[in-house]
Amino acid sequence: MTVKLETINCGNCGAPLQIPETAQFVTCNHCSTSLAVKRMESVTLTEKLEQTNERLDQTERRLAEMVYRNELAGETRRWERQRETLMVTDKHGNKSKPSGLAGFFVLIASIIISLVASNAVGGLAFLFIFVGIFAFIVSSIKQQEFEKAHRRHKERRQEITDRYTQARDNNSHSDYLQQLETAPTPEDFLRNLGET
Ligand SMILES: [Zn+2]
Repeated sequence: MTVKLETINCGNCGAPLQIPETAQFVTCNHCSTSLAVKRMESVTLTEKLEQTNERLDQTERRLAEMVYRNELAGETRRWERQRETLMVTDKHGNKSKPSGLAGFFVLIASIIISLVASNAVGGLAFLFIFVGIFAFIVSSIKQQEFEKAHRRHKERRQEITDRYTQARDNNSHSDYLQQLETAPTPEDFLRNLGET
C-alpha cells in the first residue's frame, strides 16, 4: 500500500512540503515551524500551530462563558419552579412569600375573638386560640422553608459564579469544561439565548 502524498507550502516560510494526504500536522523541514494542515474543498493550507492553539483557547473561553451562563440560567429556572411551590396563595389567587408575621396576626386575632366572645362561645374560646396557634406555627414553618430554599439558591449561584471566575482568572477553561458532569445540549443554549 502506498501513501498518497500531496505538496503544500509552509505557512511560515513558503517552502514546498510533501506530506501524506491524511496528515493533520507537519513540521516544516526548512524553518522547523509546527503547522496545522487545513484541507478545504479546492486548496490545502497550513497554519502555524501557535495560531491554532490561540484560536482553540478563544473557542474554549467562549464555550466556558456559554456553559457558565447556561448553568446560571438553569439554577434560576430551578429556583423559580421551587419558589412557585413554596409560595402561599390567598383567597384571590394571588401568590406571595409566606410570612410568619401573618400567622402571628391570626394568633392575636384569635385571642381577641376568644376573649371578647368567651361569654357567647364558652369553652369554644379555647378552640379559637388553638386554631390561632396552629396557624402561627404553620406560617412560621413555611416562612423558614422558603427562606432556607432561597438561601440555598443564592449559594448555588455563588458556587457557579466562583467556579467560572476562578477558571477565567487562572485561564484554565479546558479544566473548567472537563469537570462538567453533563455537557449542556444545543437546546439548552438556544433556550438560554431566548431568556437572556
Ligand atoms: Zn517553513
